Amino acid sequence: MKIQSVRTRVWEWRGKTVPPSANFCTNAMDALYDRGDAMGSFRFHGWMTCEVETDTGIVGIGNAALAPRISKQIIDTYLAGLVIGQDPWDYEYLWQRMYRSTHAWGRRGVGMVAISAVDIAIWDILGKAAGKPVFKLLGGRTKEHIPVYASKLYSGPIDEMQREAQSYVDQGFDMFKMRFGWGPKHGTAGMRENLDRVAAVREVVGPDRDLMLECYMGWNLDYARQMLPRLAPYRPRWLEEPVLADDIAGYAELNKLGIIPISGGEHEFNLMGFKQLLDAGAVSYIQYDTNRVGGITAAQKINALAEACQVPVVPHAGQMHNYHLTMANLNCPISEYFPVHDVEVGNELFYYIFEGDPEPENGFIDLSDDTPGLGLTISEKHLGDFEILE
Ligand SMILES: [Mg+2]
Repeated sequence: MKIQSVRTRVWEWRGKTVPPSANFCTNAMDALYDRGDAMGSFRFHGWMTCEVETDTGIVGIGNAALAPRISKQIIDTYLAGLVIGQDPWDYEYLWQRMYRSTHAWGRRGVGMVAISAVDIAIWDILGKAAGKPVFKLLGGRTKEHIPVYASKLYSGPIDEMQREAQSYVDQGFDMFKMRFGWGPKHGTAGMRENLDRVAAVREVVGPDRDLMLECYMGWNLDYARQMLPRLAPYRPRWLEEPVLADDIAGYAELNKLGIIPISGGEHEFNLMGFKQLLDAGAVSYIQYDTNRVGGITAAQKINALAEACQVPVVPHAGQMHNYHLTMANLNCPISEYFPVHDVEVGNELFYYIFEGDPEPENGFIDLSDDTPGLGLTISEKHLGDFEILE
């Protein structure tokens, strides 16, 4: 079996979007005086698909969501030629080939995003060629089904957040993640806004369910230090990305306070990036994103490293590649799940591009033992809502 072609497409959403309200999620741009609309620079309404076809007629599907026009260019210009004509079973060789030949510029950021998309497509091929779901190739089933946490609860009016939280409780979820709307420049009054919302959601979900808190890099070390003791009474399972992804020392300082476990990693890249996080004691939960970190090949190595350090891995985003890795690794206890809803931030866009994502039941999702590959197909349903660049 040889790889015959690589097809990349950028999917830009032209359909209806939900405009975000002010203070619905802190982010790194908050520190600047020209904030513009909330999350303006962080919404992404485009996606990239990467279809790798073999001479046996198998098509593997990978995807990536960061800077899709650029990741497409990287694959078309640099990566496709490195894998065409090669045996997809040599996935480690192909990964190293892509990584080493682009190393001068590609090892972090969008270069690694492009490698990730090709690698995920290769793993989809391998599953389809073997007639097995990808998780079976990665170690098999380590859990009966995967507990998932409902991940939305953007900051907004308190009664709306409570209604949303209650709807997840009613659907059977036992774990929830909410976003902060206020950060350092909003001062003590903003702290109160944040705390009131955490208290309100905790009140709805009760004392015996897990609540996770997301800063999305919108705080800084000083602010986070002040917030940790104030948040502690609400017993969050973790506080996510309190500082910029580059501030490993800041993560480490907060995590070592031992007040609330610190999580992060969805903006970290590659095995060695995660070694730095773990060596520093920066995180109590690792949250790599498979379609950024170097694909399934890199994710499995990070899983091994994290297991040795006994730091649980909860991949960022509820996507199939993450579910397969979670199923196959005992050290991945739970998965993130983005509820299906109208297009807003962009997190939900993959539901409009693909078919095959599992639906949660009572807070769990399961993967089929009988569906070869990752189990995704490209959907025809919403083609009219996308501009597709090929
Ligand atoms: Mg996050």
